[in-house]
Amino acid sequence: MEALVVPARRVRVADSADVLVAGAGVSGVCAALAAARAGADTLLVERCHYPGGVATAGLVCNCTNFFVTQSGNRAVRGLATRILDRLVAAGGAMPHYARPEQPQIPYDPETLKWILIEMLREAGVRSRYGLFVSRVTGTGSEIDAVVCEGKGGPVAFRARQFVDATGDLDLFALSDGPFDVLEGFSTLQFRMGGVDIDGIMDWLERNPDCYAAEKDVPTSLEDTLRNWREFGVFHLPHYGGMAISVVREAVERGELPDRFGEHVGDLWAMGMFASRRDQGRVLINSCACRGDELDPVRRSECEEESRLAAHRLAEFLRAHFPGFEQAYLAETAPEVATRFTRRLRGMYTLTRDEQSAGTVFPDCVGRITELDRRFSPCRRYAQAGEVPFGCLVSEAPANAICGSGKSASTEPRGLLRGQVGCMVVGEAAGTAAAVAARSNVPVRDVDVSRLQQALIAADAL
Ligand SMILES: Cc1cc2nc3c(=O)[nH]c(=O)nc-3n(C[C@H](O)[C@H](O)[C@H](O)COP(=O)(O)OP(=O)(O)OC[C@H]3O[C@@H](n4cnc5c(N)ncnc54)[C@H](O)[C@@H]3O)c2cc1C
Repeated sequence: MEALVVPARRVRVADSADVLVAGAGVSGVCAALAAARAGADTLLVERCHYPGGVATAGLVCNCTNFFVTQSGNRAVRGLATRILDRLVAAGGAMPHYARPEQPQIPYDPETLKWILIEMLREAGVRSRYGLFVSRVTGTGSEIDAVVCEGKGGPVAFRARQFVDATGDLDLFALSDGPFDVLEGFSTLQFRMGGVDIDGIMDWLERNPDCYAAEKDVPTSLEDTLRNWREFGVFHLPHYGGMAISVVREAVERGELPDRFGEHVGDLWAMGMFASRRDQGRVLINSCACRGDELDPVRRSECEEESRLAAHRLAEFLRAHFPGFEQAYLAETAPEVATRFTRRLRGMYTLTRDEQSAGTVFPDCVGRITELDRRFSPCRRYAQAGEVPFGCLVSEAPANAICGSGKSASTEPRGLLRGQVGCMVVGEAAGTAAAVAARSNVPVRDVDVSRLQQALIAADAL
């Protein structure tokens, strides 16, 4: 392989702060809000030109309802709740979402963008967009500054503590922190307009065997009908499209291939989400690309093939899916959304069994619910699962913490990657970085009881 040596450059230090958060997805925004709330002067650096990450640029405008336990107890508070409540108040999501019978919370991505911007400005976070973190400087065991590439040339930002909320663990990778590279699993989300959701519901009511009740977050058809008709929330479980007889028959006749191009598969996955406020615009989560997400050639091919596949899928849905007769392809996401790339090798690795069983951790810094996969079909957690601080920190660098649920140290991978989990992880990581900056210790050595006190004071624990 041909390689170049790139000459060293002088880079202007544009700003410095107590805490720098890299990546402004939902995790990073929560990390920045939490750090600022805990008294840290906070910078947020993002490669896109707006916050939200996968939730906006990836058009994953759907938050799985991991706020409540099986019996409906509220497990999650803090910034995740505040963001959702603000979305509801702004008309961007339907109210009454914290019911265990409602599996998903679809929302308007444009409303999320401006809400996150407002919250960051209110908190006094200095957000810097259009900047890709490409290097770090420091002593090896500690980061001194991040170097970002922007249109005006490279700029550097110094900080005492760093939160890596890039979702790809870029800061850890750039500073030789410990991580594993995982096989990627990504999807281009798209929305179709002109969908007759009442028509879908009426069809399902007449054909109850075609509803995949046990898939995803298990939901009875009765609850699904009620969620739409009474609460204005529509959800078709991931992989639920194939339960619909007319769709399955068309797939079996070969009218939709399983694969598209070299990289795109699972075209028939067909999870769907919308709320009444979307006026017939439905988010479709179908197909998947698996492979090395960090390879730019492969990634570019996925972007192109996924967009062509979305067009092909839209035609198929219009021809075969009840309620899609008049539908059209309204938009594809600005970019293919990635579920995982790198995972931290943390001081502790959280397992699914511990989460499902409600294991209590002395260093608990957050609580979420998820799906208890010890049962078939799976069901919601009976009690909240705890997030231990140890799965966010590692031996090195001493002043960096993982702030994204996508890359936390868990087995299996991505145990905390739902949007609720990401917001909980971000809030904990940002608070920890602020406490570490104030007490001038490596972030892994912060006084956990002090960190927990800060989270309790903020109603996050
Ligand atoms: C296809 C798909 C479907 C999903 N469906 C659901 C669902 O139905 N329900 C649910 O709850 N969750 C779902 N998820 C999971 C959830 O949406 C994501 O895990 C979550 O939004 C990730 O948030 P994050 O902030 O941790 O990471 P990201 O959203 O990836 O944010 C990382 C941010 O960092 C920025 N960044 C990255 N590298 C750099 C760099 N070097 N320099 C500067 N900035 C950088 C990125 O631009 C991005 O804004 C889905 C995920 C995917 C991919």
